[in-house]
Amino acid sequence: MTRNNIDDILEKALVREPLTRDEAYLLYDEAPLQLLCSVADTLRRGAVRDADVVTWQIDRNVNITNVCKSGCKFCNFHCKPHQTDKAYITTMAEYRTKVEEALSLGADQLLLQGGLHPRLGIDFYEKLFRQLKGEFPTLRLNALGAPEVQHIADVSGITTREVLERLRAAGLDTLPGAGAEILSERVRKIISPAKPSAHDWVRVMHEAHLLDIPTTATMMYGHVETPHERVDHLITIRDLQAHRPEGARGFTAFIPWVFCPKGTQLEREGISPRFSATEYLRIVAMSRIVLNNIANIQASWLTVGKDVAEIALNSGANDMGSIMIEENVVSSAGATTRFDAEAMQATIRRAGFTPKLRDQLYNYRV
Ligand code: SF4
Repeated sequence: MTRNNIDDILEKALVREPLTRDEAYLLYDEAPLQLLCSVADTLRRGAVRDADVVTWQIDRNVNITNVCKSGCKFCNFHCKPHQTDKAYITTMAEYRTKVEEALSLGADQLLLQGGLHPRLGIDFYEKLFRQLKGEFPTLRLNALGAPEVQHIADVSGITTREVLERLRAAGLDTLPGAGAEILSERVRKIISPAKPSAHDWVRVMHEAHLLDIPTTATMMYGHVETPHERVDHLITIRDLQAHRPEGARGFTAFIPWVFCPKGTQLEREGISPRFSATEYLRIVAMSRIVLNNIANIQASWLTVGKDVAEIALNSGANDMGSIMIEENVVSSAGATTRFDAEAMQATIRRAGFTPKLRDQLYNYRV
């Protein structure tokens, strides 16, 4: 392949035509990083409302329960149901304290995630969401994820579509894209064999789009996947977005983040890759280039640190995500970066952009 091939493919990307799988492979394998980042930055400018703005958010991550039957090998957060010394289900009193603190810090959203608890079905989640919305009506619930929806359906003996409909009626506003990892059954068999499959993730997300429940999509890379499985993941997300019904919001954002190995089962099995900033930037740029139908690409400051996240803002990313008042899942595997509102905005300014606080649908709040 020659530089001409790469230039031709990038020309195609610049007019937002969907790339073929082979074109995307070639870019990922061979295009110079600087060129990829420059094209991704041009595409970012065309995709967002204000090219000089980078958005950010204030929300609080609360974990519903740490009990999980899945036992993913990259996860330090979960415990097994019999580990009664560690297991918890967050109580309503604890939610109240956490939500009140979050609201006082300017949050407008609760990110609710947790393990696949073998005894918690649809009734539990409906009651929880109704209670939260009843007490905090302005609070947006960005809750669960495709694997949890599949699990709740299995526990409750109903379809995933019914789970989504009932959760939405109880107060679910948006469905996070967590649990995608790498959408390859080969990879999932190695890193999370007991978790709902890649096929389940795609189906549940499509059902959410059919119901016009906005979602995001994520990718956790840097473990056992091949480079082309990363590209395949992007193409799966792009094609799924292309199949959302007309007028449905589908994926509002894509968030690639790097596997944090510290203390995980994967690390114990010898899978402990070193983080590469250039690889992360290549993935951010490729995300912007391949995902021609998703407006927002989020820089994962929590897993890559604020300096690399700052460069990502000039390589295709347009959003810094949330300051996250509480985060326990990735942090328990070694992610140590912390941001308050001032540090978040200072980082965005240092990257050359105007910070704008947003809500979960990427509307400016101020
Ligand atoms: S990543 Fe989620 S599904 Fe997997 S073990 Fe951890 S809590 Fe359970």
